[in-house]
Amino acid sequence: MSPDSAPGRLTIDLAALADNWRALAGLAAPGRCAAVVKADAYGIGLDRAAPALWAAGARTFFVAHLGEGLFARRLLPPEAEIYLLNGLEAGADPADYREHRLKPAIGSLEELARWSAFAARAGSPAPCALHLDTGMSRLGFSSLEALGAAMETHGALCGAGLLMSHFVSSEIPDDPLNALQIARFAAARAAFPHLSASLANSSGIFLPERPIYDLARPGYALYGGNPTPGRPNPMRPVVTLTVAVQQTRWIEAGATCGYNAQWTARRRTRLATLSAGYADGLPRGAGATDSRPGAEVAFAGRRCPLVGRVSMDLTIADVTDLPEDAVTAGSRAELFGAAVELDDFAARSGTIGYQALTSLGGRYRRDYAQGK
Ligand SMILES: *Cc1c(COP(=O)(O)O)cnc(C)c1O
Repeated sequence: MSPDSAPGRLTIDLAALADNWRALAGLAAPGRCAAVVKADAYGIGLDRAAPALWAAGARTFFVAHLGEGLFARRLLPPEAEIYLLNGLEAGADPADYREHRLKPAIGSLEELARWSAFAARAGSPAPCALHLDTGMSRLGFSSLEALGAAMETHGALCGAGLLMSHFVSSEIPDDPLNALQIARFAAARAAFPHLSASLANSSGIFLPERPIYDLARPGYALYGGNPTPGRPNPMRPVVTLTVAVQQTRWIEAGATCGYNAQWTARRRTRLATLSAGYADGLPRGAGATDSRPGAEVAFAGRRCPLVGRVSMDLTIADVTDLPEDAVTAGSRAELFGAAVELDDFAARSGTIGYQALTSLGGRYRRDYAQGK
């Protein structure tokens, strides 16, 4: 419960989210376009994101865990198709999936055997996806042979409708792994021609090979992340984070700031202390140190660097080059949004935008904008 006066504020633009989905759906056509809404819709709030995406036209949704699927099911109309990327969870009852029409992405012989045994007991196939590992070594059948053998033994009742795999490096278009994975996936499609096929995440949609097939699975780009790093971001920003200044001060050249004195002022310096820190999900390394630069924030569009270690509840900005009256107690710094790109903030903080979004803390006030 954050009061209206909370120093950190998230503005989440649901109209931009809907626009981003429509833009990606246009690129995926004639294939269909799903919406990946795992991890509370990448931190923006599944309760608001799922209905907005449905209204935009999304009909197929992907979450990671069973608990997320149960929550998504309550938020979406009954016709919504919901897949669970993490598969049939250890210890979970397949009946819970079936009762709520949640389709696990089955990724091992053991999962397939459990799923099919359940279907046999129930007397009818239970819908699911099949997940083939084409290079990630994380989830999914380890090879087409392993998948084929498992399907021979247990496939009759499994109710599979979708074949999926996941890219390792689709944000790097010239990584040779992309072509290798596309070739492996093509072989699997040929072996299971009756299944719908899904391979592309956000960046995969933009690969020159256009590996869309029947269904694209974007997540990050929906939320305004750049699916084409190093090139202009084709998506609209969805999330804006601003944090209020608590204090400002002047320090002399040679003084340091923050824990372990990681940053030293080279000149007389004006600092602004912002009321958010790593407990709010800001990367601890977002501030510059004496040996490397850090992230930049913006006051009314004017950028300045973060300096020193981010602390639990506070972060320091060097505002020396901004007019003194532009930054006072209560002024708001934009950490990312329209003035500072999410990907830029994250990269300069030593992380990725995915992590910056999914770490957004519980102390921020959240404003959902429907506007234009
Ligand atoms: C998270 C995830 C996606 C979405 O990826 P983005 O890069 O966020 O678009 C798609 N497929 C799988 C298997 C995932 O785990």
